[in-house]
Amino acid sequence: MQRILVSACLLGEQVRYDGSHKQSRHPILQQWVAENRVISICPELSGGMPVPRLPAEIASGEGGEKVLQRQTSVVDSSGADVSHPFIVGAQNALRIARLHEIHIAVLKEGSPSCGSHQVYDGSFKGHLVAGQGVTATLLRISGIFVFSEMEFNDAHNMLLDLEADGIASPISHKP
Ligand code: SF4
Repeated sequence: MQRILVSACLLGEQVRYDGSHKQSRHPILQQWVAENRVISICPELSGGMPVPRLPAEIASGEGGEKVLQRQTSVVDSSGADVSHPFIVGAQNALRIARLHEIHIAVLKEGSPSCGSHQVYDGSFKGHLVAGQGVTATLLRISGIFVFSEMEFNDAHNMLLDLEADGIASPISHKP
């Protein structure tokens, strides 16, 4: 059975920087939970960040790829460089995905870790720009299909396609 990696905050876990969650009530997610498909991950906690913690953004909104290449940093609202725990968290997410032979992840949009289409621009003024977080980037370049919480239907269609194809081992997919 295909398992699916899901951001812990979408599952109601109080892991966000301010101790809140972003629980999704989407019926597809509820179905996956009932089928015992879901593997929960909060990359930031996995990387060693506490709850609560200061909000963080990728400097200049440059995206996770630049962070992984050490060409830019994740900074918190005090200006501290928190890139290391974000990279460790991404590596942990990938390790867990590989352990469970996961091909699909649904991650919280907008996060400097989990965002898959948009991230904040580094100004801490609530401005979103096109880009992806550190974990979403690492998963994608490692061949995992990453969706946001607005794309449960697309993720489920991908799941049905993979199961129809009998895919059981990691696949090669470039973003
Ligand atoms: Fe949610 Fe991801 Fe942020 Fe953790 S790192 S709180 S799972 S968006």
